[in-house]
Amino acid sequence: MSWNERQRRMLAAMGLRLFAPAPASSAMPAAPAASPNDGDAVAAVAERPIEVPAPRVAGPVPAVAPPRAPVTPARPPAPAPARAAPAAVAAPADPALAERATHIATLGWGALQDAVAACTACGLCESRRQTVFGVGHARADWMIVGEAPGEQEDLQGEPFVGPAGQLLDQMLRAVGQSRRGPAGEGREDDQAGDPARRVYIANTLKCRPPRNRNPEPDELARCEPFLKRQLELVQPKLILVMGRFAVKQLLKSDDAIGRLRGRVHRYEGIPVIVTYHPAYLLRNMPDKAKAWEDLCLAKATADGL
Ligand code: URA
Repeated sequence: MSWNERQRRMLAAMGLRLFAPAPASSAMPAAPAASPNDGDAVAAVAERPIEVPAPRVAGPVPAVAPPRAPVTPARPPAPAPARAAPAAVAAPADPALAERATHIATLGWGALQDAVAACTACGLCESRRQTVFGVGHARADWMIVGEAPGEQEDLQGEPFVGPAGQLLDQMLRAVGQSRRGPAGEGREDDQAGDPARRVYIANTLKCRPPRNRNPEPDELARCEPFLKRQLELVQPKLILVMGRFAVKQLLKSDDAIGRLRGRVHRYEGIPVIVTYHPAYLLRNMPDKAKAWEDLCLAKATADGL
């Protein structure tokens, strides 16, 4: 496969270097051992480009070739418009929670952000510095769903601003997307710039779990109405889901990312692409090539809508 200059620049932006057939003795650089502290692991690996086989998706970038992966067969094609139907989220058994979810489903951007900021629905409110609402174009074509704020996000109040976020920004840049507009907008009603080129980013949890521990099922359930409402307000054409807990929340699946990636799923009729979490990619560099394939699939899917 041959690569043009533009593709090479985009892959370089993601930290990917093209694979050149090497003598049998040459080996892929070993990924560093996972560290309990993501930040340290990131500092160690972020600047080292990796060698990967050329992604199997061909064609000029960003006009990537249509994905070869099949669309999830069991699901019908998206009804149009994909956004009108109510979310297929199991109603909470607790009537008070159900009532709260119903109320949240009525909120506009400003009231929703206020509700998140004031939320005390789970114990995470006690340890957070601040809530982390979301960022990007309020009607973006692409919505990115991550898992939970980490230390930097808890400090700055914006999703994906730590090392994983820097990788996410590089990945998005590689497919012509960005969280910021020309003037760096970030308000909840931000509609500056081209919604086809500016993403909206949100997490499943709006508060940082202590020491970045995994989200608890009850925390995910109580936070779910917020993400669901963000999805309804943004009305994205495509959702990119990063990481296992985001997959669990949106697709109600416990399957591994490796089993779910490479095909198009649906949330409320909206195409969903599953990919690895950037923090995982920082510790597992060879999988960056798969994440690049996932981005190409996302782009081809969005471009084909
Ligand atoms: N990881 C996430 O999933 N979200 C963030 O905002 C930061 C790290």
